[in-house]
Amino acid sequence: MNRSLAFISTWLLCSLICSSAQSWGFYAHQRINRYAVFLLPTEMIGFYKKHIQFITEKAVNPDKRRYAVVGEAERHYIDLDVYGDSALYKMPRRWEDAVARYTEDTLRTYGIVPWQINRMKYQLTEAFRRRDAAEILRLSADLGHYIGDANVPLHTTENYNGQKTGQNGIHGFWESRLPELFADQYNFFIGRASYEAHPLMRAWQAVGEAHVALDSVLGFERELTLRFGDDRKYSYETRNGLNVRVYSKEFAAAYHQMLAGQVERRMRASIKMVADFWFTCWVDAGQPDLNELGRQTYVEPSEPEAPQGEPLPVRPHEGMPFGWRKFNAQGCCYWETAWANAR
Ligand SMILES: [Zn+2]
Repeated sequence: MNRSLAFISTWLLCSLICSSAQSWGFYAHQRINRYAVFLLPTEMIGFYKKHIQFITEKAVNPDKRRYAVVGEAERHYIDLDVYGDSALYKMPRRWEDAVARYTEDTLRTYGIVPWQINRMKYQLTEAFRRRDAAEILRLSADLGHYIGDANVPLHTTENYNGQKTGQNGIHGFWESRLPELFADQYNFFIGRASYEAHPLMRAWQAVGEAHVALDSVLGFERELTLRFGDDRKYSYETRNGLNVRVYSKEFAAAYHQMLAGQVERRMRASIKMVADFWFTCWVDAGQPDLNELGRQTYVEPSEPEAPQGEPLPVRPHEGMPFGWRKFNAQGCCYWETAWANAR
């Protein structure tokens, strides 16, 4: 085989592996957006159901953008612990007050997720006001993503992947591997969307609930690691013909049990909050007729996915587009190795 043929076949093989693995780690985000649709009132559910595929698939768009768009990465988290022990209680809630105390640079360095949610609440309300169907869909999907992130404990700490405590890989373990293994058993009957009069405070509440769960997220993993040892903590699974190292099912089950419903509670809280926000935006925009809107001609928005230039030096996370992924003996595209490789 000459060199160009070899290159093309390698590229083809990797394309196959990576495109089929692409949606794997995004399971929870997609579930959250999808289930939120079913909490909406009659006046809204028809329009959202019509586009449920879009709302589901595009739930992961913000993660795909974080390596390409300047200013994107910081929207997904807030490292509360850098502001001191009781930051959760002492930190100014309003953006202007927080900027006055810490400077905008500092806030952006350590993440702005609660303010991002509040900003998107305003943008989605405006899209409803303009009766802009394509924008309503795009912003609904994006807002669902940031709300999901705000509810994840490891999105509220500088030790976001356990890298400061020798627990590398815990980020993907908690937010990808556990939902993938156990979400089928979760109860996603959550009731109805309700009006949220204080969106910014609600965003802070989500971050706060996630942050207080952090001690158990890290502590239980540490405790179980001592009990299991590395040989039982990890196992190998075949994905797309490649052997990849994963947290063993036994370890995952023990951890999940120890967390006592924590992942399910955070997912349920996310789903409810997403539906509440979509509903609130629609109400604040004067309850436009979405059935009428659904009959208009519009196209679902699309985003370019091909990476340009070098990826931005942001903290690594799932969602790195194919062209930027690196490969190693454990195979491409797998969240645990993707984290390790991107560092
Ligand atoms: Zn994210």
